[in-house]
Amino acid sequence: MRQRHKPWADEFLQENNHLVVPRATDHRQNWQKVFGNDKPIHLEVGTGKGQFLIGMAKQYPEVNFIGIEISKSVIVSAAEKVLASGLDNILLLNEDASDLREMFGENEIATLYLNFSDPWPKNRHEKRRLTYQSFLEQYEEILEQDGELIFKTDNRGLFEYSLVSFTDYGMKLQEVNLDLHAINDETNVMTEYEEKFSSKGQVIYRCRARFGN
Ligand code: SAM
Repeated sequence: MRQRHKPWADEFLQENNHLVVPRATDHRQNWQKVFGNDKPIHLEVGTGKGQFLIGMAKQYPEVNFIGIEISKSVIVSAAEKVLASGLDNILLLNEDASDLREMFGENEIATLYLNFSDPWPKNRHEKRRLTYQSFLEQYEEILEQDGELIFKTDNRGLFEYSLVSFTDYGMKLQEVNLDLHAINDETNVMTEYEEKFSSKGQVIYRCRARFGN
């Protein structure tokens, strides 16, 4: 994700701490209270500049959306867009998603999205892939019993790796789509990366998987 240095970012984040919530661990198991309602919570990890989250929040006003993004300048871009949209069912966290269990309690999340996660293609970096077993352990804990993990990527290697990782872990695959845009799914909300890669003619893969039966 392209980043520009934004010297005013800290001030912006402080002024908008109702949207980019600081100290996420303080709100563990309490996110519905932060939203001020009891709607289900969907979480996107590595949210980038927020296009997916905003599209989803418009399409599903009955859902609360949280986006986690590690880069400060990138989350500022996302926050600017959310503010311009006027949507009130989005919160952003400028956090490292390395242990989501510190920020979310058991069963707190209904759906988890991984969109165009960094592929980490070298074998020695396998543990950094967001579909590696140790991440699946976290997702299993924070997801509701029948909660879904929805994963999109243009990277064939990461997609194949992730399908094996999901099934080795005992997850049930609900969908394995090898050319998402060929099916004209009108509910599909494109991410920034999805738009970029598909405009270059690259195929987009999608998998939906559950932990429970
Ligand atoms: N999801 C967006 C999309 O599809 O357009 C962005 C994809 S970009 C390849 C991956 C994003 O994940 C980057 O913005 C990066 O900063 C973020 N990211 C990577 N590792 C992360 C981590 N450990 N915690 C939170 N965000 C992370």
